[in-house]
Amino acid sequence: MSAYCLLLPDGSRIPYRLELRPRKTIGMRISVEGLIVHAPQRISQSQLEQILLSKINWIQRKLETRQERVIETMQWRDGANLLLLGNTIKLSVKQHNHSRAIAYRAGVLQVALPGVEDELAIARKVLQWYQKQALTDFGRRIELLAAKLDVPTPKLFISNARTRWGSCNSKNEIRLSWRLLQAPPHIINYVTAHELAHLKEMNHSVKFWTVVERIFPDYRNAEQELKSLAKKLYVIG
Ligand SMILES: [Zn+2]
Repeated sequence: MSAYCLLLPDGSRIPYRLELRPRKTIGMRISVEGLIVHAPQRISQSQLEQILLSKINWIQRKLETRQERVIETMQWRDGANLLLLGNTIKLSVKQHNHSRAIAYRAGVLQVALPGVEDELAIARKVLQWYQKQALTDFGRRIELLAAKLDVPTPKLFISNARTRWGSCNSKNEIRLSWRLLQAPPHIINYVTAHELAHLKEMNHSVKFWTVVERIFPDYRNAEQELKSLAKKLYVIG
């Protein structure tokens, strides 16, 4: 079983696991980790990816549906657990008639709202906070790693993507999902390094991984860790 990335025409990627089987047709299923493809042993990578691209609407719809099911489990109320940079933090919700403040202090994300039962309002507030923090946090990492790779710092956009962590394009723009802010710092560094390396190599060739390795030597372990983390990082949102 091997991990691959399907490159879409818009430059974004969908990670998938490939399992080669003694069979004649291609089968796909969506697991908690994402897309799993069963393919005949003799198929070439480019043939396979062409077939996957022809079924991209189905794949994306299924991935989204799976995320929606997972997300229902998050309960937006006082005392709930959240993840920040790999640590579990507490959500504190306090009733306040005139304030809608949000602040993070010593492992607690404190939210003040007129209605403490208003889960939608709490969720919106917390997600806005994550997106704002993500922009600052990822921006700093991109700057450092771009300097290490000796490329100009690309423009960073924060995405809300559920099915991919990052993407980049030829306009020197990188998109990272704010959901990554829940992951440990080395995982965020890995995804950042991966996208930066695509600015030099727009594929997943050996050359590409050599570039990744230059700025993030332990990329193999990080890639594995990210896969097993994926389910956790989808819970909120
Ligand atoms: Zn990639």
